[in-house]
Order: sequence, then C-alpha cells, then structure tokens
Amino acid sequence: MVLLFGIVRRLGKTWWVWGSVLMIVFTALVSLIAPVYISPLFNQYKILQDARVKDPILQMARANGIPAKDVYEFDASKQSNRVSANVSGFAGTMRISLNDNLLNRCTLPEIETTMGHEMGHYVLNHAYKGLVMFGVVIVIAFALLNWAINFALARWGEAWDVRGIGDVAVLPLAAIVFSLFFFLTTPVGNTITRTMEFEADMYGLNAARQPDGEANVDMMLGEYRKLDPGPVEEFIFYDHPSGRTRITAAMQWKAEHPETASTEELNRPLFTGTAGVSKN
Ligand SMILES: [Zn+2]
Repeated sequence: MVLLFGIVRRLGKTWWVWGSVLMIVFTALVSLIAPVYISPLFNQYKILQDARVKDPILQMARANGIPAKDVYEFDASKQSNRVSANVSGFAGTMRISLNDNLLNRCTLPEIETTMGHEMGHYVLNHAYKGLVMFGVVIVIAFALLNWAINFALARWGEAWDVRGIGDVAVLPLAAIVFSLFFFLTTPVGNTITRTMEFEADMYGLNAARQPDGEANVDMMLGEYRKLDPGPVEEFIFYDHPSGRTRITAAMQWKAEHPETASTEELNRPLFTGTAGVSKN
C-alpha cells in the first residue's frame, strides 16, 4: 500500500500501469518464493527417507526432466487432513514436497498419480503462465480502478472530503472497487486455474499411469469439494475440475490404455475356453 501510494503521488496519470506492474511483481515473488521461504515458517519440512515412496517419485521426476535430488515431507496434518503436495520453485529453490496426510492415507499408486499431477504443473510452467494470465486481469483491474476512482471523486469527492487520488482516504473506495471487480471476475480466475489443473491431471495420468489411483484420490477431494456439480456451477465456482470431471478423465485414460489394466485382467486367458472366462 505504501509503495502503491508512492507510485500514485509520483507518477500521476500513468500510476495504474506501474501499480499493476508492482502487483504482478509482488504476486510473482509470493508465488515463487513462498513454497521455499514462507511455507517452512508454518510447517516443518524434512527429507523423506522411506525409499519405497521416495525412489519411485524421484524416478518419475528424472523421467520428466525435473532436477530433484530429494523429496520433502511436511506436517500438514497439524492444520487439516487434506491430502496435498507440490513441486515448486525455480533455479536453486526447486523442490518436491508432499504432505504427511498423503503419506499416511494413500497407497503408492495414489501418491504417484498426485506427484505426477504436481510435476505436470512444474514441467508445463503453470506458475509462469498463470502469472501472465493473471497479469492481464490485474492490468484490467487497475485500469478500471483508475477510471472508477476518478469518476467517483469528480462527482462526490468534495462531499466525501477526499482530496484526490493520492489521498489515503481513497482507500475504502479502492477496496470496494477491487473487491467488486474480483468478485464479478470469479469465473475468469477460476477458469484460468481450472484449465491448468486439468492439464496437470492429464500430465499426471500420462506420467504416473495410475488411473485407479487418480480416481481414488479424486474421491478423497470429495471430503471438501462437491464431487458432482452442474456444468454452470463448475464453470463459475470451481478452481479445480470437479471430482466427476477428473474421474471421468482417469477412466477414459484407463479405457484407452488396456495394457495398464490390473494384472488380474492381464493374466486372464484371452482366447481359451477355460472355466471362469465368459465367451460373450
Ligand atoms: Zn494442481
């Protein structure tokens, strides 16, 4: 806020361009730095030792061009029982983390498909693409904010005793305009993230090849997200695909990859007429 008012007072009419640049830089810093420098303030991170989990994750990371040497686990169970993980950072801060709920509640295929999803975010550069797309929304928000404040002050500025756009008394008005804008553009923001989340799902299915594990984890998300919303509800309110969308995609993937079917199915004789095999 201090920086923003500094910009407003020094740069005059073009303040909203530089204001949006400031906000984009701030968002970038928070999203790129938070996982490595801020998250550890709230949770304890330690190197995952269990080779049964660590080895397949690092194997998948190497196969997908991710330069990771360790996997970290963190104690998210002290805040909730939600399963989650992330692959984050850039340059020297690259890090694969998964939370203890995932370790305690899930099978290896479920962990693998979750990590495949997170690796998808990393490989597909979703942090940077998201920043560009939200950057556009932020520029529009600031342009609107500039227009709305000038419009309101020209009419009611004197009655409100607000002496121009550089007066801190303009802050409540700015908060109302910004809140209203981001409320009305909820479907835009949600669609940006939901689209990338679906891409990460598809990446995870292809990387981990665990469609059943994926469907199981999606069911767990049903603990805090409605699994089967209507299409309009999903479009407006969902920042991730619904459980129904994700499970349908996993089952479609499974149907198109018969070679990954369970060993029981693979071991079933195909063309013999032996007992137990129906002939239809
Ligand atoms: Zn995701």
